[in-house]
Amino acid sequence: MAQKRDYKKKMELNKLQKSEMGIVSDRFPSVSNMVIYMTYFHEAENPILMERTINIFPTSIADFNMACMIRGCDKGGFNLAPVISKLVKERKKSAKGDMTCKGKIENHSSRHAHISYRISINFRKKH
Ligand SMILES: [Zn+2]
Repeated sequence: MAQKRDYKKKMELNKLQKSEMGIVSDRFPSVSNMVIYMTYFHEAENPILMERTINIFPTSIADFNMACMIRGCDKGGFNLAPVISKLVKERKKSAKGDMTCKGKIENHSSRHAHISYRISINFRKKH
């Protein structure tokens, strides 16, 4: 029971943190839209865990910290925020790369999960 309550508390905290992040148009006013393509890999015979495309609009929550999909991973995830901040600052339209989850997980190696990502940004026209 206690575990369930902790989970609920955690979810509420997450919600609060998300609302404090603000929306994309506040954080990146020059962005008109953005697409993030991600492929999740894990340590297995079939390494591709899933593929995901996320469309970001000016009204979206500016949350670019993607959760690790491996059950039991503690404090893991893939934070694309620094990558996106840099792209927007330099007004670059796209980038790609890889990121390894730094979360801790029992009975798994430190290389339990990684992603490859591609980000594509459309900027508003300058006035
Ligand atoms: Zn992880």
